Amino acid sequence: MRKPVIAGNWKMFKTISESVNTALSLKSLVANANHCEVIIAPVFTSLKAVADRVEGSNIQVAAQDVSDQLKYGAHTGEISAEMLKDAGCSHVIIGHSERRSLYGDIDEFINRKLRAALQFGLTPILCCGETLGERDAGNAEQVVNNQLTADLNGFADEDVAKLIIAYEPVWAIGTGRTATPDQAQQMHGYIRGWLTDKFGTSVSQGLRILYGGSVKPDNIAELMRAEDIDGALVGGASLEAESFAKIVNYNE
Ligand code: PEP
Repeated sequence: MRKPVIAGNWKMFKTISESVNTALSLKSLVANANHCEVIIAPVFTSLKAVADRVEGSNIQVAAQDVSDQLKYGAHTGEISAEMLKDAGCSHVIIGHSERRSLYGDIDEFINRKLRAALQFGLTPILCCGETLGERDAGNAEQVVNNQLTADLNGFADEDVAKLIIAYEPVWAIGTGRTATPDQAQQMHGYIRGWLTDKFGTSVSQGLRILYGGSVKPDNIAELMRAEDIDGALVGGASLEAESFAKIVNYNE
């Protein structure tokens, strides 16, 4: 059985004190959620403060990106996997569509970022997904295939087994337009099949594939009923503790 993961991506929102307040509210609201893993991804400056406050609870902390560089060095603006670990992170989001489209995160970087994260014991949440134009042209699966092929190029089965994958159709991120459970299931099934082909059944059956794209308290339960949807990566609706807690507690 795959334990579901509900992860909140706070993007570039919240000061340190706002992040801590939201995390503390969330901590009590999800204290009894044992059916899933709960992850929040604050901005870099809030990571340590949030990680300290949720230590010992069922909330884990993710960074929203990581450097592809492993060692100390002249890499202005970069933050290494070791530093994220030191700040209390257990996970890191890699290859989010906003990073791919706005900040030049090409698959080659993403491949190296995944390796860096794994080397320092961080669990990557690898994002993939197609744009509306790519879907309308009938290329959605091909796009995801291309992304995963390049991002995981040269990876051993045991490394891929450590990942979480998030399928996030770009047209559903922050738009209020969610993929239907059938659309999401179709792509999740495709990704699981792809993983079976490339890395074998034990990897594909164990790996959690999250759906992301306008997940809200009122659509999470339906999405979670789909066979290959193992959780959600939530943006907007994760910013308020109450609404994110309702998503975490989708089974109530
Ligand atoms: C995201 O940022 O990964 C995301 C899915 O955002 P939203 O839930 O706001 O669509």
